[in-house]
Amino acid sequence: MDHVSPMKVNNVDVHVINSCNLHCHGCNHLANYGYGGPFRVKELVDWIKPWKDRLYFKRISLLGGEPLLNPYLKDICIAYRRLFSHKETKLRVITNGILITKCPWLKELIQEYHIHIQVSLHVFTGKTKNEKLINRVKEGLALLEKWAGDTVRPAEISWGSYVEAKQKLNFQVFYQGAGTQIKPFQHDDITESKKHCTCKTLQLYKSNLYKCAPIAYVGDVLEKFGMEDDPDWKPYLNYEPLTPDCSNAELVNFMKMQPHPEWTCKMCPLYANVILSGEREISQEAVES
Ligand code: SF4
Ligand code: SF4
Repeated sequence: MDHVSPMKVNNVDVHVINSCNLHCHGCNHLANYGYGGPFRVKELVDWIKPWKDRLYFKRISLLGGEPLLNPYLKDICIAYRRLFSHKETKLRVITNGILITKCPWLKELIQEYHIHIQVSLHVFTGKTKNEKLINRVKEGLALLEKWAGDTVRPAEISWGSYVEAKQKLNFQVFYQGAGTQIKPFQHDDITESKKHCTCKTLQLYKSNLYKCAPIAYVGDVLEKFGMEDDPDWKPYLNYEPLTPDCSNAELVNFMKMQPHPEWTCKMCPLYANVILSGEREISQEAVES
């Protein structure tokens, strides 16, 4: 393969698990339907290695599902940090915060390995409030802030804070119905659906690159539901991700199309089909254990 300079990627999402301890209706990554994982260190390293010298990742987000449910997460973060210098690549974990207090090793990841933690505050805004969970997340946030505050980080200053929290997370739900009744939208106005898209991030999943989370994970969910033969989903099940043996021209073309609407966007609504964070059910009974 001819040598070309690596193409810059502002962010790639990498699932370390496909299930979650919250079941937020409309989750863009479909983790509310839980479809597998956790993935192990070697698998995750093997997924990204073929792309390491072809793409220049400015930021890698390790998420799911809930990444803190993955018992190998600490070692995954360390392995990724060994592959990607902290001066070049921001490595962040995106969590719903419920398990922070049970993961004291996050301190080491923040302080020694320059791992950033973003907490999505679903429990603060979900439709039904659970004070126990809210307090648990608050406790976790206080710990993260303390650990980050104890850190000397001159080289990292341009990356912003080690701990970020996001409260208002409104989801554009990309399908109709729920559970085994989910259906794609059907239309030809891909420009319009892309305009409303809230989930356009590149995904690395099982060594392949996907345009966005919905197209990357919907196949696994349909398989779980026994819906692999649903004719309405068929075109999307036949989506071909970019594989590591692609040519440089194919990679360039794929990355060039990344910000633009493509045929996959036919499955998404061409209007705002948003669940506001304050109206979202997060199925709290799933997290009481
Ligand atoms: S916390 Fe909710 S939105 Fe986040 S991954 Fe879990 S189910 Fe999805
Ligand atoms: S298919 Fe298109 S509109 Fe739908 S989530 Fe992906 S990028 Fe967005």
